Formats: sequence, structure tokens, C-alpha cells
Amino acid sequence: MTANVDHMWSLLSVEDNDRSFQGNDGYRDVTGLVYRYDSRVPNHQRVLVGHFVMLRDPTTVLGFGRLDEIKKELGSKSIRLCSTCGSSKMYRREVKRPMYRCQRCRAETDSPINEETEVTFFSAYYESSWTPMPTAVPVEEVRDSYVSQAVQNAIREMVLSRLLTKPVIGPTIAAIR
Ligand SMILES: [Zn+2]
Repeated sequence: MTANVDHMWSLLSVEDNDRSFQGNDGYRDVTGLVYRYDSRVPNHQRVLVGHFVMLRDPTTVLGFGRLDEIKKELGSKSIRLCSTCGSSKMYRREVKRPMYRCQRCRAETDSPINEETEVTFFSAYYESSWTPMPTAVPVEEVRDSYVSQAVQNAIREMVLSRLLTKPVIGPTIAAIR
């Protein structure tokens, strides 16, 4: 048993064309194998080997696992900054134009500043324990199990004990403990 055993993280996996909430260009996840994020993602430094993870997409719980390994790699990437206030919280809109809106100062633009910044890229592997959900479970089912309501974050802490009481989900997690 390790001290990490009680941690549960919700990891939001999104399609490459739906990266708006991160304000940058995507990395590629492989469901059932690896989740990728970088050092600009809130909570990135708190996710550790041995922790439980719940993979989800915007609407559905995909499955559960435990982290076998986290690989780190230094690199750089281009981020979008608001040309008015400098915030990196540029929300990309699917339909409305201008294409980007700043979540801090609400400025709208089609041409944000692109800036190259150094980051650490993380690849978190969970393949050996991966257990997909036997039936489709909507994310509403687990909404009460989040520690905070910071819904904009891709990595969010969950309350493991609360998840264990849920039908379908509880037994799925118990099977990988
Ligand atoms: Zn702004």
C-alpha cells in the first residue's frame, strides 16, 4: 500500500477540434493507454503514480484505472494570449465570430498573440489497470463527487469514497483496487 492510494483524479479527454477551454493547441490522448497534459494545466503537479484516474469526455465517463508511470519531457509550445490584457485564457468559439474571447477582460479577436513558451509535457500511463465502463454513464452521475466545482479544469480531484457508493461505478473501481 502506498500513501497515494486514496487519490482519484478526473481526466478530461477531448477531441482535437475541441480544445477551446485550454487556450492552446492539443496533445493526443489514447483512451485506455495514456493521458497527456502539460505544466500549464492546473493540478498537473499533484497527479502521481499510484493514483486512481477516471477518464471522461465532455459528456460521458469512459472508465477507470491507476497510474503505472508518468513520463516527463521538456519542450515548448505556442500559446494564445489576449492582445488587450495578456491573459492566456482565450476561449475559442466554435460558431460565433470573432473566433476568440478573453475570459478575463472579455475582449474579442480573430488574431490573438501567439507566444512560444517552455513547458513540461506529461504522459500518464494507466493501461495495466484500465477498466472501461460496462455501460455508458453520463458525467452528471459523478458531479457530486468532485472536490471543487472548477469545471473549466481538465484535471480535477474527486472523492473516491463517494464514487465507491455508486452503482456500476463503485464495483468498477473496486475491481481495480
Ligand atoms: Zn483579455
